Amino acid sequence: MSQYDYDLFVIGAGSGGVRAARMAAQYGARVAIAEQQYLGGTCVNVGCVPKKLFVYASSFSEEFATAQSFGWHEAHRAFDWQTLLQNKNREIERLNAIYGKLLDASGATLYSDRATVAGPHEISVGGNHYTSRYILVCTGGTPYVPTFPGSDKVITSDDAFFLETLPETIAIVGGGYIAVEFAGIFHGLGVDTHLIYRGPLFLRGFDQDLRESLAGQMQDKGIHLHFDCNVESVTESKSGLRATLNNGATLDADTIMYATGRVPNTQGLGLDTTAVVLKDNGAIEVDDHFQTQESSIYALGDVIDRMALTPVAIAEGMILADNLFRDADRTMNYDNIPTAVFSQPHLGTVGLTEEQARERYASVEVFRSEFKPMKQSLGKTNEKVLMKLVVDAKSDRVLGCHMLGEGAGEIIQGLAVAVKAGAKKADFDATVGIHPTAAEEFVTMRESVKTSN
Ligand code: FAD
Ligand code: NDP
Repeated sequence: MSQYDYDLFVIGAGSGGVRAARMAAQYGARVAIAEQQYLGGTCVNVGCVPKKLFVYASSFSEEFATAQSFGWHEAHRAFDWQTLLQNKNREIERLNAIYGKLLDASGATLYSDRATVAGPHEISVGGNHYTSRYILVCTGGTPYVPTFPGSDKVITSDDAFFLETLPETIAIVGGGYIAVEFAGIFHGLGVDTHLIYRGPLFLRGFDQDLRESLAGQMQDKGIHLHFDCNVESVTESKSGLRATLNNGATLDADTIMYATGRVPNTQGLGLDTTAVVLKDNGAIEVDDHFQTQESSIYALGDVIDRMALTPVAIAEGMILADNLFRDADRTMNYDNIPTAVFSQPHLGTVGLTEEQARERYASVEVFRSEFKPMKQSLGKTNEKVLMKLVVDAKSDRVLGCHMLGEGAGEIIQGLAVAVKAGAKKADFDATVGIHPTAAEEFVTMRESVKTSN
């Protein structure tokens, strides 16, 4: 009989926590998991899932316009925000229930309450104390809003999923995934949309070509991009809110949404009762095996602030369960993890950007194709697809694939297998395309546009 109540106590039933708990329980471990708010965590409730549903909702306005170029006439066209919210909420409740069933079926015990760490092997939840051989912290993150005069008047992505009414005008502050995705969402739903970013061009870290093309295309659609400026204060105005910018301009909007990053949920978690070390931003320090400085305590997912993506948290959770309960010695390889920004058009990417490749490799070849998508060929939009392959000239290895255009996430997911497997440009060339698709361009680009550093 073990001296502990559980073998593994997981705090947080989001993407990482649920996967680790289920796997560990299936391996025969005695597992408990605590969740203070909603099963499935950020991704299911206020992240990937409702976001993608909103992206679909917002894309219909352009689909209607495209349909006309194919001879369809618009009938009555009106958007009802309440219908979208209700249907979205119903779908998420369905997913919450599925998560509950999956946990139950795995044999893990669920505590629907906030949990705190009370020592290296002790957890406090709902007024009760439990002991566990291992504790896993998967508490995720929370939107970060900097403090400035009027910062209490702004909303975050958490609120955007539950707005009672759709604003007529919105200003979104930030230049990362969330700001760019929500700018497309609100614009597509008919909201007059402004995006304010402190740097010269949003999506820092993504391929420069694609960032520039996306910015141009968003502007063409009518999204107002304000770069190289920031909000100094927000005050109430007659019509709603007024943001005063550091360049002296003011901007009126019904709603101001901050998408300026997220902070790890470690406050008040009781980690000070242990040897766990936090980084300056509150993220938990772990080694390659997700172990903290307190040997019985592990952490993974957004709370360790490595790559805040759902499939990453899930992969980390599976690795940990294998290591703890299957005697494995696995570590996570963060190279060539594909990702997509669900902007409009979508941006998908895997591997090195052209800029990163030039820093690391002596000679880099870039293959680039930009064209009007066939679906838009009968209409009047300026929408362009942009594709890039970044290749190490010496070994011929494909270092990066980048795409801006419809279905970019879907297409890059497939190519990620090839990049991860170390495919060469010659392998891409030897692959026969599927015609007519946009994706076939990835296997038909022959002329490099740049060949040296
Ligand atoms: P979370 O999913 O955040 O789960 C943490 C859980 O812990 C939460 O349920 C929380 O309530 C609970 N918790 C916290 N403290 C306690 C406590 N003390 N006791 C009990 N429970 C606690 N990623 C993608 O890959 N693709 C996307 O398209 C995408 N879109 C996103 C859109 C938005 C708007 C946001 C905000 C994020 C998006 N992400 C996306 C990121 C993704 O949601 C996260 O990377 C992922 O959810 C992280 O999983 P996690 O398990 O680390 O944490
Ligand atoms: P990001 O880290 O992606 O972007 C934050 C943005 O806010 C950056 O542009 C940053 O500017 C800016 N910023 C930070 N602090 C300030 C400040 N004080 N004032 C003004 N601007 C500021 O965070 P997000 O909130 O967009 O998303 C969080 C994470 O969630 C993402 O990094 C991603 O990992 C995940 N996510 C994934 C999605 C997907 O897979 N499709 C979708 C949504 C989220 P600067 O660039 O200058 O630092």
